[in-house]
Amino acid sequence: MKTQLEAARDGVVTDPMRRVAEAEGLEPERLRTLIAEGKVVLPYNPIHRPELARGIGKGLRVKVNVNIGTSANRCDLAQERRKLEAAHRYGADAVMDLSTGGDLREIRREILAGCRLPIGTVPAYEAFETARRERGDFTAMTADDLLRTVRRHGEEGVDFVTVHAGLNRDSLRRLERDPRILGMTSRGGSLTARWMRTRDQENPLFERYDELLDIAREHDLTLSLGDALRPGCVQDATDRGQLEELIILGELAQRACAAGVQVMVEGPGHVPLDAVAANVQMQKQLCGGAPFYVLGPVVCDVAPGYDHITSAVGGCLAAFHGADFLCYVTPGEHLRLPTPEDVRDGIVAARIAGFAADLARGRPYASRRNTEMAWARRRLDWARMYELSLDPDKARELHGGEDRHSDGETCTMCGDLCAIKVDGTEIARDSD
Ligand code: SF4
Repeated sequence: MKTQLEAARDGVVTDPMRRVAEAEGLEPERLRTLIAEGKVVLPYNPIHRPELARGIGKGLRVKVNVNIGTSANRCDLAQERRKLEAAHRYGADAVMDLSTGGDLREIRREILAGCRLPIGTVPAYEAFETARRERGDFTAMTADDLLRTVRRHGEEGVDFVTVHAGLNRDSLRRLERDPRILGMTSRGGSLTARWMRTRDQENPLFERYDELLDIAREHDLTLSLGDALRPGCVQDATDRGQLEELIILGELAQRACAAGVQVMVEGPGHVPLDAVAANVQMQKQLCGGAPFYVLGPVVCDVAPGYDHITSAVGGCLAAFHGADFLCYVTPGEHLRLPTPEDVRDGIVAARIAGFAADLARGRPYASRRNTEMAWARRRLDWARMYELSLDPDKARELHGGEDRHSDGETCTMCGDLCAIKVDGTEIARDSD
């Protein structure tokens, strides 16, 4: 079996490529070229066959990822199913199962079976957690355990995996020589660093990267190169540790591409607004144009409870400057495992960020939809306004609830003084 990247290089337009090209309004041949150049990935494990295939990268609509999954403190599969429903209902483009509590394989099986979107995981979570449960200490995990776990995720149908392969002895040393306020806040990164220090060994995902590539190629697992040294507060952003790791990630991305493995690169978590553009430009430059998957970025650290907003601000700017894939952040970030309501709020915030960036970058789909909304407002056509909303449920709920204006035509903001009505809706033209 060929990966989507290998097929693209052989000049073949696959069925998922055709579907994605149609959804994006691109010529299939143009999409094939971008995949062949490593500038677009199409996470599509043939075992899972997500019916809603997604392309991520240059020239495409900005995509949004949703993290769901259990923790040791809260393990409720029914709640995870509701989060998955929210991901489908509110327009996510991909779902990552980050479960660390309960029966991890069973949870993943359920999510894979119920998810129509590409699914990502972090296999290291399972490998570390299994060692902790079975041998009493997560550092008892072996390099073989870790690679076996990656393989199993591929065999089960996972479409993309985050691997913290860029953390090595050099980047750890760099971090130690240039200390931070918050050290390491990537969960996979900090577990890997503790494992390396305790065992005095190199990171297996770095040391045995060629084996990892063989596994990924076999299952067409798209690699998402995780940034273990992503800053956890804006004061730590763009420091030597982060940049050292980014250089390594660029080299690893190049090796993945050369091996026919689809690859994207993850980016910084907390970055001040004035450094967002530079971070995107450095990633694109150092990683050969590989798709950039940003976590946030969260642009200030003082809004717990509202970090879906701090990250939407950063995500919008990042996407405007070329980031391709936004990892949503929920109001629960830094506070708790997200609830299904948090998931909804996080998705909509990230979609607003992506849409606003696409609109400003002149993407035709965004401009069409935005213009249609303006005309629907002009006509006071509420049904159409709901339909065009990024969260139709919320728009319907707020406008059509108990507070609805008695004339049924305007809203309670201005009521009889409705500016649109007073000024004459007869000017409205047919927008179709
Ligand atoms: S009442 Fe005011 S806010 Fe509501 S639709 Fe009319 S102009 Fe807009």
